[in-house]
Amino acid sequence: MKKRFSYYMPTEVIFGAGTLKQLAKVSLPGKKALLVISAGTSVKKYGYLDRVIDYLKENGVEAIVFDKILPNPIVEHVEEGAKVAKKNKCDFIIGLGGGSTIDSSKSIALMATNEGEYWDYISGGSGKGEKVKNNALPIVAITTTAGTGTEADPWTVITKTDTNEKIGFGCKSTFPTLSIVDPELMVSVPPKFTAYQGMDAFFHAAEGYLASVNQPASDSHALEAVKLITKSLPIAVKDGNDIEARTEVAWANTAAGIVESLSSCISHHSMEHALSAYHPELPHGAGLICLSVSYFSYMASKCPNRFIALADAMGEKVEGNTDEERAQAFITALKKLIKNIGMEDLKLSDFGIKKEEAPKLAKNAMETMGGLFTVDPYKLSYEEVVKIYENCL
Ligand SMILES: [Zn+2]
Repeated sequence: MKKRFSYYMPTEVIFGAGTLKQLAKVSLPGKKALLVISAGTSVKKYGYLDRVIDYLKENGVEAIVFDKILPNPIVEHVEEGAKVAKKNKCDFIIGLGGGSTIDSSKSIALMATNEGEYWDYISGGSGKGEKVKNNALPIVAITTTAGTGTEADPWTVITKTDTNEKIGFGCKSTFPTLSIVDPELMVSVPPKFTAYQGMDAFFHAAEGYLASVNQPASDSHALEAVKLITKSLPIAVKDGNDIEARTEVAWANTAAGIVESLSSCISHHSMEHALSAYHPELPHGAGLICLSVSYFSYMASKCPNRFIALADAMGEKVEGNTDEERAQAFITALKKLIKNIGMEDLKLSDFGIKKEEAPKLAKNAMETMGGLFTVDPYKLSYEEVVKIYENCL
C-alpha cells in the first residue's frame, strides 16, 4: 500500500434510479445556466431536455441551451459555447448527456472566465501550457451514459482538428460541483454503445489500478468497478431495460471516475486518443477494446503483480507456476468479457485504420499524451508502442 498520497474528490454525487427529479429541489450554484447538450437528437427525443428545463424552472433557474457538441468534441465549440455563456451572463454550466457533452461543459466553464484561446491552457502537443488564472464557472453534470466517469473527475478531452491532437485537461475547478447519475436515463443507450462506454469505464478502473500513482482509495474503487462491469455489463448489453444491471454499471462508471481523480489512466488511453484523433469516427471505447488485448498482453508479462489482483476481481481462476503465467489470467478474463458483450469480432480495420499508420500513431500518442506514459507500471519505448499497434492492426 502507498504510504503517502493526496485525496481530493470535491464533487457531490446524487446517485440512483429516479434521482433526476431532485434537480427541482437541490441547491444549485447559480440562477442562469448554459445548458450544454450534443448536436444529436437523443436528449430531445427521450424527453430528458424538457424534463431538465422544467425542473430548473421549478428551482428558479433559467437555462440557455447550447446544442452543438460532437461525439469527439472540438475546440471551436468550446470557444463558441464560452462566448454564448459570457454574452448571456450565465453563472454556471450544466452538461446534460454523455462524456463528450459533459467534458465540453467543463472546457466551456473554463473559457467563460479565462482570456485567450482554449489551447493556451493545454499542456502537451502544441498547447502553450499557460497557467489558468481564474476558476471555471461551477459545473453541474447530468449523465445519460455510463462510460467516461467525467461526472466524478476533473478531466475533459477536446480535439484540435487542424493538428490532430486529442488532449485531456483538468484542474481543481473543473471537478463538477454537483453530478446527478440516474440510471433510468441510460436505458435508451443502444447495446453497441452500452458495450463501448462500459468498457471505457472498465479500462479507467483497470488502468487506475495499474498506474504507479495508485492509492488505497483508488484501489478499492477500481477493483469494485472491474468486478461490477464484468458481472453486469453483459446483462445491460443484452437487456437495456434491466435497471439493476444499468445501476451497477452506472455506479462502476462513477467509481471509475473517482479512480481517475485519485490515480490516473495509463498509456493505453494515450494510444487510443491517437487513433481517434486521426479517425474521429472511431468511438473511444471501441478503440480501447481493439487495442486492449495487444496492449495488456504486453504489459502483463512485464509487471505481473497487479494483473493477478485484477483477474481475481473479475472472478477468473488464477493459475500458473510463475507470476508471469498467473498474470495471463487477466488476459483470459478480458477476452471472455469482450466476448460476453458481443465485441469479439471488433477490429480497427472496420474503421479504416491501416497497419502502415503504426509509427505515426505511436509518435502522436507519445507526444500529445506523453504524461500518461510516465505513470505506466512499465516504461514502454517508441519501438514497443509501434509493436503494440502493429499487433492489433
Ligand atoms: Zn476513457
